[in-house]
Order: sequence, then C-alpha cells, then structure tokens
Amino acid sequence: MKLETLAVHAGAEIDSETGALSPPIHLSTTFEHTPDGSLPHGLVYQRDNNPTQQRLERALAALDGGDRALFYSTGMAAAAALLQSLPNGSHVLMQDDLYHGVRALAEQYFPRWGMRVTMVDMTDLAAVSAAITSDTCCLWTETPSNPLLKIVDIAQVAKIAHDASAILVVDATFATPILLQPLSLGADVVMHSSTKYMGGHSDVMGGALIFHGQAELAQACFNARLLIGHSASPFAVWLTLRGLRSLSARIERHCRNARIVAEFLAAHPNVEIVHYPGLANHPGHDIAKKQMADFGGMLSVQIRGGRDATLAAAGRLKLFINATSLGGCESLIEHRASVEGAHPVSPQNLLRISVGLEHADDLIADLAQALA
Ligand SMILES: *Cc1c(COP(=O)(O)O)cnc(C)c1O
Repeated sequence: MKLETLAVHAGAEIDSETGALSPPIHLSTTFEHTPDGSLPHGLVYQRDNNPTQQRLERALAALDGGDRALFYSTGMAAAAALLQSLPNGSHVLMQDDLYHGVRALAEQYFPRWGMRVTMVDMTDLAAVSAAITSDTCCLWTETPSNPLLKIVDIAQVAKIAHDASAILVVDATFATPILLQPLSLGADVVMHSSTKYMGGHSDVMGGALIFHGQAELAQACFNARLLIGHSASPFAVWLTLRGLRSLSARIERHCRNARIVAEFLAAHPNVEIVHYPGLANHPGHDIAKKQMADFGGMLSVQIRGGRDATLAAAGRLKLFINATSLGGCESLIEHRASVEGAHPVSPQNLLRISVGLEHADDLIADLAQALA
C-alpha cells in the first residue's frame, strides 16, 4: 500500500465494541488481570502500554516500514531512551549539524553514562570513516539537519556503520516518513519528534523510535520508557494519531510553499544564502533528489548586514511568527543563535523558517515587506 493510504488507514481499525471510526481514547491507568497475574487482554498498566498507543505504534511501524515502533512523551525522551540503551562505554558519532537538544544531551549526560561522543560532518564520508573507533557502536545522524538543512547520504553512511558493526540511527523529524524512508535505505532505527509535522498543529508533544530488526535494542528502549517513565498520555497519543491522518496532504503543501519561499529568498538582494535542499545549488541537492520524495517545508536563510539587520527583518514580519518549533499549520521563523543558550553554534545572521500552510502569495508579501 502507498504511504498516503497507510497514513489514513494504519491503526485505524473500526472499534469492535461500538463501530466508532474515530478511535476511543482509553484513559484507564490499569487493566484487569487474573488473580495469578496473567493478562487476558495483554495489558497491565498505562506506563507499559495502552490500546490507544498500540494503534499509534502500529501506524508508525507501517509508515516507516519497521518491525516495531515505540512512542514516547517527547522527541527528546525517544532520543534519550535510545542513547541510554547503548552498551556501557559506547562511543557515538553524531552529525555536526544537529538538533541542539540532542547535542546538549550528549555533552551533558554522556560523561555520567560512561559514554563518549564525536561530532562529525556526515556529508563528508571520509571524515565519518576516519572518526570511527573500535568502540563506536552507534552513528546518529539527522537529515535534513537542523538548522543548516545538510543532506546525509543514508545508504553510504549505513554501509560505513555496518562495516564497523555499529548501528545507524536517523532523526528524520524534518522529512517525516512521507518524504524519507531511512530503514529502506539501510538505517537500523528512525527517530521522529512527532511534536512537529506528525502532530502538525503545534498542540501536542511526542517522539517515536521505529526499528528494523534490532529486537534486543527495541526491548531495551521499551524498558527505558517503562522504568524511566517517559510514557505519553493517551490524549497526546490520540492527537498524534489524528495528526497522522492528514500528514501526507499537509506535507505536500508544506513542500510546495517552501519551494516558492526558497526561490523568492534566493533571488532577493538582501539575502546572502538560502539553505534549502530543493535549490539546485544546495550541496546536498542531488542526494536529496535521490533519497527523498520531495524537499520538505524547512529552510534557513542568512541575511546580509549581520545580526542587527537579521533581527530587524525578523521583527518586521507580520504573518510569520517568531517562535521555536516547526511543522505546524502556521509559518514560524526563529533566530537560532538567540535560543541556543550560552554557546550558540548557528551563524548570527541565520533565520530558520518553518513554512506553513498559508497561501504562498501572502507569505511572499510578508517577506518582501520585511526584507525591503
Ligand atoms: C524538536 C526536535 C527534537 C526534539 O523533540 P521534542 O519533541 O521537542 O522533544 C529532536 N530532533 C529534531 C530534529 C527536532 O526538530
């Protein structure tokens, strides 16, 4: 079945008790068992699992073509569960351009967990090979990456990982399964912050891990959720499941609008550079064309005139909202360096844009008046 169809129908079985099309939200924290503790319905306690979440996990596994999916309360909880489940003493290679929360997690918590991280530009395959050590057990990449929209060749990096007996994890939050299928390209685990496009309405947090094989690792990640307590609420799960139903239609519009915005910005005299993999001059354009169905709704732009001119332009926008996060219906813009804490890594003239579902003409008019 095609992805568009799966997004609508996976995990959407009619409720056998009532015939309801919209799935019931099971709020119960506990489920009846027999006196000797066996589970007639396979369910015991909400922190382990619940029926609403089982639907969502079936849908997530189907969309990414995985064997098992696990849902968490946030994207960071999903990332932490995976990293905490790696063997003691592990060395992890991470993409240098990376969601700043995952970078901070590695920097602040790996020493406590007896682990090491090396940041490497994974668009440079020779650099990836050179950074592998005998205790490297995981390569963690993000494509397209945040906030520079770097494109990592998943098939090539998976080969390097597997030659070193390491696993490849791909944070595919920006792409979603509609645009990118990392498991079919050789990745072992896909991670999503469903807070973004999957939820799609800026109103529900969540994160997911989807596994190709790796049954032992998946079970360890399940245990991490159970024992550290990163389970999502059934209502959050339900909202995420609802978001999935319109994901492919929304992604199509996000991509169309982002292309129009990127082309407008690229031609603007006050713009230094646009980072959008859909532009022919983007260094990852050819790989993106090969491994993605379209180029996504995210882009970043560097404005001429430095930090002050950049902040002034962001301040003049009326339709684009200055806010963090991405993947909602409304267009957002953010000066990343201002929100990256004490040691910002993003250029001071960079604005990250999540292109929303508005009419492209209105978005262009707003950008035109702000950049004038
Ligand atoms: C937002 C985000 C995360 C973290 O997810 P939360 O749901 O905010 O915890 C991880 N990776 C990427 C690429 C993200 O955009």
